[in-house]
Amino acid sequence: MYPKSLEQLIDSFRTLPGVGEKTAERYALLITEADPLEVEQFAQALLDVRTKLKHCRICGNLTENDTCEICSDQSRDQGQIFVVQSAKDVIAMERTGEYHGVYHVLNGLISSSKGVLPEDLNIDRLIERAKDAHEVILATSATLDGETTALYLSRLLASRCPDVLVTRIAHGLPSGGMLDYADEMTLMHALTDRRKV
Ligand SMILES: [Zn+2]
Repeated sequence: MYPKSLEQLIDSFRTLPGVGEKTAERYALLITEADPLEVEQFAQALLDVRTKLKHCRICGNLTENDTCEICSDQSRDQGQIFVVQSAKDVIAMERTGEYHGVYHVLNGLISSSKGVLPEDLNIDRLIERAKDAHEVILATSATLDGETTALYLSRLLASRCPDVLVTRIAHGLPSGGMLDYADEMTLMHALTDRRKV
C-alpha cells in the first residue's frame, strides 16, 4: 500500500493513454526522487497548457492568443483551408513543411456511435470562412467517422458556398500517436494527390 499522495500520482499517470499500472508506478517513483525545481516546472507546465491555451477564434487551433500564428501569418494563403479533426493534425501537417495555406480544426468528427452531431463541431465558422476562400481541403481521417464528416461537409459546402473548390486528400490522415517520417511522406502525397469532390 502506497502513501496517499503517491497513490494519487499513480492514478493520475494511469489516466494517460498507453500507461498501465507498472509504468504509472515507475513514473510516480521517479518523481519522488526528482529535483524539486524540475518537478515544480513540470507541474506548472501541466497547469499552463490547460489554463493558457485556448482555441483560435478563426480556425479553432490551439493558441495562447485570440488568433493563432498561422491565421495571423499573411505570407500564408489565407484562402486555402485544410480541414482537420484536431490540433494534433495541424502539428503533423506543419512538420511536413509542404503546406502554405491555413487550417480549420473541427475539434471532433461526426459520429453516430459516439453521438457527435454536426452542431457539436466547429462547422458554422468553417462555412463563414469558406465564402471568402478559393479552396477547402477535407482532410479528416479515412475512418468511418472521418468519411462521414467529409461527405457531410462536401454537401454542405456545395449548397452554402457553391463557388469554392472542395477537395478531399487522397487518403485520410493517419490517426493517433506521433507521426514518423514515413507518415509525413504519406501526408505530403495525400495532399498532392487530392481530388475535387
Ligand atoms: Zn487560427
